[in-house]
Amino acid sequence: MAKRLAVAASDALKADGLRIAELDTSGRPGFVGDKKAGTELLAKRALVLSDLQEKLYANGRSGDKRSVLLVLQGMDTAGKGGIVRHVIGSVDPQGVDHAAFGVPTPEEKRHHFLWRIRKALPRAGQLGVFDRSHYEDVLVVRVHNLVPSTEWEPRYDEINAFERELVDEGVTLVKVAMFVSLDEQKKRLAERLERPDKYWKFNAADIDERAFWPAYQAAYQTMLDRTSTAYAPWHVLPADHKWYSRLAVTELLIEALERLELDWPPATFDVEEQRRRLAQA
Ligand code: ADP
Repeated sequence: MAKRLAVAASDALKADGLRIAELDTSGRPGFVGDKKAGTELLAKRALVLSDLQEKLYANGRSGDKRSVLLVLQGMDTAGKGGIVRHVIGSVDPQGVDHAAFGVPTPEEKRHHFLWRIRKALPRAGQLGVFDRSHYEDVLVVRVHNLVPSTEWEPRYDEINAFERELVDEGVTLVKVAMFVSLDEQKKRLAERLERPDKYWKFNAADIDERAFWPAYQAAYQTMLDRTSTAYAPWHVLPADHKWYSRLAVTELLIEALERLELDWPPATFDVEEQRRRLAQA
């Protein structure tokens, strides 16, 4: 029988003080049960998430300015796309504002790094999802020295100030850093080379990036240490088990939405009068 996560997902996945070099990426913090139980639970919890998202959307249509933004970071093959498809995919697409951030376009490069991010923020009542984010500007940019350190170093503080501003405007940030082991990544890349239905996901550069694994680990560690704040904390997600990471993100979103204490917006019309009119129409 599937159980709820034994502890709140946000507690189980706390980033505070965590050393990612010591993280067990095959772990399932907070969950007691096997894959079958986890998958069954996910199906149930997806319905709860969908109901809460609909309430958020309904309130947005009624003037509530709040929104929720899921920020996904992780190395190639960590499963960000799977979260978008399987977790976000379980809610009504009209209530979702999705954005994926790749190599900046020439126009984006001419602007401040947060320019393209601001343009993609979720509208009122929407569940936003960022597949990669402003954090690339202190991850890939740092690892590959795409700009000098004098330029990326101040970005941690800038990001914190930016996120403070978002929270003050009513955006609930759910930041999730997904980690797979180097071996698990190799398995997933191999699968992309073995299965014709996965060729499209393969990128030869992903193999070159494996040589930079320690540099990425260090960049991720600094990101967690410097940008996990009380108002926008990071969650560290062991992601070797796809079913677990999907369940954990579902739980994080449910928690975030529950904290908004959403209710169905009250009628802005006289219900009895409209019932009477309809009966006669
Ligand atoms: P994915 O690999 O997630 O399927 P894409 O192939 O579209 O998606 O592009 C992602 C690539 O873009 C990654 O290699 C990522 O590091 C890179 N990228 C994202 N943001 C930036 C940035 N600000 N500067 C440089 N590269 C970036």
